[in-house]
Amino acid sequence: RLRAADMNRKDCVRVAVRVRPFNKREKDAGSRCIISMVTSSVTIQDPHDPHNRRSFSFDYAYWSHSGFLRDHNGLYVPEEPGGRYADQDSVFQDLGEGILENAQQGYNATLLAYGQTGSGKSYSMVGYGPNKGLVPKLCDRLFEDIRGNQATRQCQVFFSMMEIYNEQVIDLLSRSSRTSGVLRVREEQHRGFYVEGLRTVPCDSVEQLMEQGTRTRTTAATHMNANSSRSHMLIILQLKQVTSANITKQSSINLVDLAGSERQRSSGSEADRLKEGTAINLSLTTLGNVISALADVVVGKRAVHIPYRDSVLTKLLQSALGGNSRTVMIATLSPADIFYEESLSTLRYAESHP
Ligand code: ADP
Repeated sequence: RLRAADMNRKDCVRVAVRVRPFNKREKDAGSRCIISMVTSSVTIQDPHDPHNRRSFSFDYAYWSHSGFLRDHNGLYVPEEPGGRYADQDSVFQDLGEGILENAQQGYNATLLAYGQTGSGKSYSMVGYGPNKGLVPKLCDRLFEDIRGNQATRQCQVFFSMMEIYNEQVIDLLSRSSRTSGVLRVREEQHRGFYVEGLRTVPCDSVEQLMEQGTRTRTTAATHMNANSSRSHMLIILQLKQVTSANITKQSSINLVDLAGSERQRSSGSEADRLKEGTAINLSLTTLGNVISALADVVVGKRAVHIPYRDSVLTKLLQSALGGNSRTVMIATLSPADIFYEESLSTLRYAESHP
């Protein structure tokens, strides 16, 4: 068995940056592209100050495979595109396959999407229509592997899907969650943190479950007069494998579409806005602190305290962050000058963790 100390820090935490195409609003506003790339390093240009450029390095940096090429004015194309044009398949190959292999070997994994609302988190994680994202691609591959390996191992998959809003957990697969309210997070010595009463469904495909969960998320948001961009969506896939030599392996894959990283502008009351904003900042900051602390553990810098207990999200991810787990963060960006501040802040967050 690999020990954390044997693992290279790079194997444990990987960060990718993905730039989405210009949207209509940005095009209509005549936006310029302020992002450039050289292999996996990303540079952002301050639209108000030509001398202010900041560069950040990552494990992967991607342009979108479509929608980025020159329009009739040539306005949207960066002078030196650099980097890579990546579609959903290439992103899955780079980020999803490793996580799946890791889980099949019995280690936990976490995949996180971070970025401002509208920057492509859902596109990357779930996808739209035929452009399936990481979650469905990963599940398709998982179930294909299970069917292909039936002779040598039995594998069962359990699916759960929840939302964390204002530090409260809502079960997205339970029909009664809107009325029965929030679930409690408990801790047990051997099990660690878990959500009491969360629905966990054995499955051999996830499409319907994801549809159901997404529907509940939308209705729940309407019900609470909230916006789903202010909650985290967490899918947990638990794998239980029994090999022909009767060895049992258990692991989990945590897939997280984080709340929008933008400063919060809410339609609710001042008090609600404050509460929501504080809860979102708390969990994003704590998550960042946990990932940085883990990177320090891996490089053996010092005895570190890892602040898992500081937010519900990090409590629930505890067993799948650190140790032999693999963590991948995909940070999503708009290419446009009008989002300079938000994109700079996303690049900063993504570079500092680890
Ligand atoms: P978020 O989840 O961060 O709020 P979305 O994933 O919904 O953002 O993306 C906003 C819009 O941009 C969607 O219409 C989506 O289809 C489009 N989009 C995002 N990323 C990409 C990409 N890499 N390639 C093509 N379109 C994208």
